Amino acid sequence: MNTLELFTHLRSVGVTLSLEGERLRYSAATGALTPELRQELAARKDELIAFLRMAQSATSVTGQRVQPVARDRELPLSFAQQRLLFLQQLEPESVAYNVPVALHLKGRLNLQALEQAIREIVRRHEPLRTTFKPTEHGAVQVISQQTDFRFSIADLRDVDEKEATMRRLMRAETGRVFDLMAGPMLRAQLLQLAEQEQVILLTMHHIAVDGWSIGLLVREVAALYEAFVTGRPSPLPELTLQYADYAAWQLDWLKGDVLEKQLAYWRQQLGGAPPMLDLPTDKARTSAPGAEGREHLFDLPVELLETLKELSRHEGATLFMTLLAAFQVLLHKYAGQEEIVVGTPIAGRNLPEVESLVGFFVNTLALRTDLSGDPAFSQLLQRVRETSLQAYAHQDVPFEMLVEELQPDRSLGRAPIFQVLFALQNAPRGLLQLPGLQISIMETEDASTKFELSLDLSESANGLQCRLRYNVDLFEAETVGRMARHFRRLLESAVAAPEQRISALEILVPEERDQLLRRWNDTRRGYPLDKCIHQLIEAQVGRTPGAIAAVFEDEELTYAEVNERANRLAWKLIERGIGRGSCVPVLLERSMALAVAWLGVMKTGAAFVPLDTTWPLQRLQQVLDDLGSRTALVNRLTPQRADELGCDFIAVEDCERSGRATNPEIEMSAEEPLYVMYTSGSTGKPKGVVVPHRGITNRFLWMNDFFGREAARAVLQTTRQVYDSAVWQLFWPMLSGGRTVIPSPEMELTAEYLAGLIEKRGVTLTDFVPSVFNVIVPQLVENGSLKERLQTLRSVIVGGEEITAATAYHFMQHFPGVQVVNLYGPTEASIGCIAYELTGDEATSTRHKIPIGRPIANARILILDDSRKLVPVGVKGELYLSGACLGLGYYNDEEKTRAAFVPNPYPEIGWSTLYQTGDVARYLPDGNIEFWGRRDHQVKIRGFRI
Ligand code: AMP
Ligand code: MG
Repeated sequence: MNTLELFTHLRSVGVTLSLEGERLRYSAATGALTPELRQELAARKDELIAFLRMAQSATSVTGQRVQPVARDRELPLSFAQQRLLFLQQLEPESVAYNVPVALHLKGRLNLQALEQAIREIVRRHEPLRTTFKPTEHGAVQVISQQTDFRFSIADLRDVDEKEATMRRLMRAETGRVFDLMAGPMLRAQLLQLAEQEQVILLTMHHIAVDGWSIGLLVREVAALYEAFVTGRPSPLPELTLQYADYAAWQLDWLKGDVLEKQLAYWRQQLGGAPPMLDLPTDKARTSAPGAEGREHLFDLPVELLETLKELSRHEGATLFMTLLAAFQVLLHKYAGQEEIVVGTPIAGRNLPEVESLVGFFVNTLALRTDLSGDPAFSQLLQRVRETSLQAYAHQDVPFEMLVEELQPDRSLGRAPIFQVLFALQNAPRGLLQLPGLQISIMETEDASTKFELSLDLSESANGLQCRLRYNVDLFEAETVGRMARHFRRLLESAVAAPEQRISALEILVPEERDQLLRRWNDTRRGYPLDKCIHQLIEAQVGRTPGAIAAVFEDEELTYAEVNERANRLAWKLIERGIGRGSCVPVLLERSMALAVAWLGVMKTGAAFVPLDTTWPLQRLQQVLDDLGSRTALVNRLTPQRADELGCDFIAVEDCERSGRATNPEIEMSAEEPLYVMYTSGSTGKPKGVVVPHRGITNRFLWMNDFFGREAARAVLQTTRQVYDSAVWQLFWPMLSGGRTVIPSPEMELTAEYLAGLIEKRGVTLTDFVPSVFNVIVPQLVENGSLKERLQTLRSVIVGGEEITAATAYHFMQHFPGVQVVNLYGPTEASIGCIAYELTGDEATSTRHKIPIGRPIANARILILDDSRKLVPVGVKGELYLSGACLGLGYYNDEEKTRAAFVPNPYPEIGWSTLYQTGDVARYLPDGNIEFWGRRDHQVKIRGFRI
């Protein structure tokens, strides 16, 4: 029970509370104060005092009694009625505000007595016979004297498929629109299922009733029926007030200072535009989401409920507050936001005289909690307590008025101020026992939802019954089920140690941990990761010495030729003292010499460092300084740039034709650097990513498995030499007898030129960054003569930045036989380590985007939150990489290396280091990963970091 509900409950049993100075006083009818209540009062004294004090300061409602107003004057609408009438007029066909109540009756029903009871109910409660009439100064209530009433009866006794028919009839009835101008406001249907079994379905409009009213109606119908069956008169006391009196009172009271004081609180509380809740959805949002809702039911066991109550008592909070705090932590963990606003219904019946009225009193409070600073759960509970008490004390402003007042952001058809609802019902709706009849409330299928998500909890003898309702246009059932599990886990974690910081609260269950750590990282393959790249190439040279290994313009080199040239260069370098531990800058344009130079350098045991001739002199100088190297490789095309740099140069061609031609066979480990690739951070000086042979060996062998050796027959070298993709484009084919096809550096990589090259050289695999792909695909597709030239193409890799779904499908449509693969990876993780082969089905899916896929062989992936805890499936976190793809760090930069290559807290994955990518990602339920951009909004242009 929240504070307000406790008050209401106390009043209903005859206990009145008041404040006398700082002391809580109560007066009670004899016998009203049971020992349990006395105990509860004592335990919650502080809370009650705080509440009363706040209620006083917030223009207390006490002293302002609702009075009956004359029925011959025009009867105004309450604020809530005004708004609902407006909404219904806005969408006259909507049944979103229909309120169905279905009762299942077993036993012999006295239909006459029941009809009489409902007639009496309609007579007692004006809202059930109130319609609305427009006038010059707004609508007014029109109360009919007509109380005539009959059930519409459907006899299903002899119907086959009784249950289905019943459900269908119920759906039809609850789906009928109300005419608020004409009435009736209550419709009743009786479904006779068997001689002694029937369902009665009452359908009303929300403008006439709220949840509280329903409880009241059911109890009153039962009491009346019981009396009428035995011919007694109604036992219910006549009402002295009606909703219309309350409406008139509300309009009169909630204005001027009273209103201003309450509004001031909400302005301050909800000001500063609390952000929309950014829950990660399964389905992409559309501008006009539907309202179809479904629900996931689950129970929290009574032991957990008891410990939650105990924690609440201990913290001076209510069960409501504790559950809300936990729910807000859950939303925080899902959305990654620190301010969470949740709506909660409030009965709106804190005037004792309206407790027994039927009508639309319920209001919604927006509870905004600040979760910043990683508080302990118990601390957070205090924040939630404070927020809730304040909200209760200012509960009289109708939510709609607040929306009007605050004019919050409205976007993409989303609800203003809050998008998620939380409610703790504490009127347990159990069985009603009547003479000869057993009555239970039936679930009605309410197929609509006004919120993205709502959590409804109610106490029962078996614990907490929970109902998580969701919009089917946003969430899958599986996701909501997972969320429910996480809520339970979180509650258990919080009660076990409320002094824990919220970041430490656990939401994953052990199976989920196992899935994230082991099953989805079960990538082990027995590759010979102790082999260096040149060793693998040399082995292939032995197998196919006469095959073509590289093609550049009109020049073709065999495996033996490439290898010999590289060997001669290597021996020259070795003579100059270059070897293991050295770095050799290579300032070359795309050419045959490029392949020879890189291979030559690695054969010495040194690492090659690709440089770009188009870089500004200063940048080249910076890199050379960083490397501390004074010897660089050039070729005929680059000496001018080399001269300007004023260091020592060796032209590759000069070494290619003479000198020793045998493999140097330097003893070295595959853990030693293969290359240093300079990427420029968005700020500061460029950093050199050091990648060992092992990473690339692993990557190449995985490519053999994934793409097949056929795809390696002829690979187009499309990437500039200062990006790591150039490395596999040059050398991967050389592991299996294929060739690399090097385009001329003078040629722009237009669709025309590439198509020609693909045809001429029989290219089987090519690689594009999406921004290039997007330009080339329309040209390839529209130009029939270009399209024809792509016959030999088997695979296209698109990656390096987020791929454009439309282009990918466009391409796939026109080239159905070509495999399209999205490859993800940073330079620090050996070119790429997550891969996804497009199926084409993604095109019709409601998902947000094309996944980047799963870890490649021997790679490991973790998606973690800011405190490096695993985030669950579906939730966004930061992507961390590990395994055989790990780079060694940044050249000559301990500090940057330590910041990005961090200790791994999860030994289960078998590697001690993680590379922190700065990329945001999440797991899909099937284990594929979705990429959600950079954490720091680093911009990539044409697929390259800038
Ligand atoms: P680089 O080190 O230049 O290869 O850049 C690596 C970064 O590019 C990653 O951290 C991602 O931000 C982005 N990236 C690489 N591949 C993809 C991909 N397939 N989809 C989306 N972003 C990608
Ligand atoms: Mg890359």
